Amino acid sequence: MAWFQKDAACSVAHLLHIEFGEFIMAKCEICGRGPQFGNHVSFSQRHVKRRFNANVQKRKVLINGKVRRVHICTSCLKTLSKTA
Ligand SMILES: [Zn+2]
Repeated sequence: MAWFQKDAACSVAHLLHIEFGEFIMAKCEICGRGPQFGNHVSFSQRHVKRRFNANVQKRKVLINGKVRRVHICTSCLKTLSKTA
């Protein structure tokens, strides 16, 4: 029974990790921009819900004099390149 419980806990953690990871991946840590939702519209005008993720990259960025690895959207990267 113990091995079964351990296995179940691992699978739950695995699921949580995936959900958490997706949440992190799609959100900019600078401006907080996240995914937006809309419709995919086929040629036959059938509407199906879809998700538009922000273009988020993991980059080393200088923030308050410290280099940090952050998930940052490309529009924020462009803004940083203008200021720094
Ligand atoms: Zn951003």
